[in-house]
Formats: sequence, C-alpha cells, structure tokens
Amino acid sequence: MQSVIDGLCELSLKDPMTGLANRRHFLSVLEREIDGVARSGEPALLLMLDIDHFKSINDTHGHLAGDQVLQAVARCLSRCIRPMDTVARYGGEEFAVVLPNCLVSVGEAVAERIRMTVESLMISVGPSSHVKATISIGGAYAPAWVRSTAPLWIERADNLLYRAKSEGRNRVCIDHQQAIAVSAEEKNLLFGHLALGEPAWLERVAVEPASGSVSGVGE
Ligand code: GH3
Ligand code: MG
Ligand code: MG
Repeated sequence: MQSVIDGLCELSLKDPMTGLANRRHFLSVLEREIDGVARSGEPALLLMLDIDHFKSINDTHGHLAGDQVLQAVARCLSRCIRPMDTVARYGGEEFAVVLPNCLVSVGEAVAERIRMTVESLMISVGPSSHVKATISIGGAYAPAWVRSTAPLWIERADNLLYRAKSEGRNRVCIDHQQAIAVSAEEKNLLFGHLALGEPAWLERVAVEPASGSVSGVGE
C-alpha cells in the first residue's frame, strides 16, 4: 500500500514524458523560494526556456521525433543544474528552472551555459537520423526583501523569454536587476497595506535603503 501511495505521489510531481518536475511541483517550489527570498534576501533566479521552432521539428521529423527531442533536452537540462536547483516541464516545449541562491553576477553565465549545451546536442531520432535544437531563455530574479508572487515572477521571466524570441531566438535575456525590476503589483504587495504610497516617501526609501536591497522601489 505504501509503495502505491509513494508511486502516486511521485507521479503527481513528475511530468511523465520527461521525468522532470511537472508544473504543479514547479509552482510549489517557486512559492517556497519566494518565502526563502523574502526571509533571507538571497538572490534567486527563475529561467523560462522554450525550444525554438519546435513545430517545424515536428513537421519535418514527425511527432515521435519531437518527443525524443523533448526528452533529450530535458536530460540535458537536468545535467546542467546543481542539486539544489529545480528543472520542470512547464508545458509543451517550454521548461522552467528555479535557481536558489544564484548570484546576480553569474545568472547570465549559467543561462548561457545551458543554452550552449543544448545547442551542441546531436539528438538521435532514428537509426541514422539526428536533429539539432536551440532554445531561447528569459530570466528574472526574485525581488529581494519584497514578497512577490509566483505569477508575477513567472510573468517577468516570460516577458524576457519573449524578448529573446523577438531578438532572434537561440539567446538569453536576463533581467540583472534584483530590486529595480520590482513591478507595480509587487510594490503594492510590499507597501499597499501600509497606506504610505506618497512618492516622496518611496523616494526616500530608494535613496536611503535600510537594508540596501529595497533600492529599486522608487522605480
Ligand atoms: P517558437 O520558436 O516561437 O517557440 O516556435 P515554436 O514552433 O517552437 O512554437 P509553437 O508554439 O508554434 O509550436 C509549439 C509546438 O510544440 C506545437 C505543438 O504541437 C508542439 N508540442 C507541444 N507539446 C508537444 C509534445 O509533447 N510532443 C511533441 N512532439 N510536440 C509537442
Ligand atoms: Mg517554441
Ligand atoms: Mg512555446
């Protein structure tokens, strides 16, 4: 009975095709990370990754080959990350990586390494048939000391993914600012309940950050 229960738990956390965390598991990891960032202020990076022109891989090589590409990219992503990171299949040909405690200075290099590793793959989709794939990556840091929400964080990373797509694909776009990128909604989460929204007060926080991490609040 216990092994059946364990199996069901495992199934509900994993995407069956790739074995990666599924969207549900990813969202719970993201919520946990938001708590951690709000408590500690440690930088955490969210990457959203999307395979480029995946439809044409399906159209050219067939849906089964497309599945093999998804699985190969998933294995590759798993190899690229640290044990503390989480890689998930967000849906279709889109993946997400949560990187706790990832310094702002190294986020771009980490994402670039992932991009180049996927680009270098020769994915076998038949006895003598190989496919190459590229990915576009958008990344955003959780705002330090501000309790964001999963949808807002995902939206920021997604916007950068769209930018990477529109700038030509097979590239990385990262929002380097951990605090300046705080959105209006995130500011409301921080300051709304205090009912102290006057620009002068916000300005003062921006100029004289108590913790050094709320410096972007005057955005
Ligand atoms: P872009 O570079 O803009 O991301 O282009 P794209 O072709 O990758 O994006 P688009 O959204 O046009 O197509 C995604 C395709 O992914 C369409 C869908 O049929 C395919 N797809 C989604 N899930 C699966 C899957 O599990 N297996 C396979 N083989 N294909 C899938
Ligand atoms: Mg795509
Ligand atoms: Mg897509």
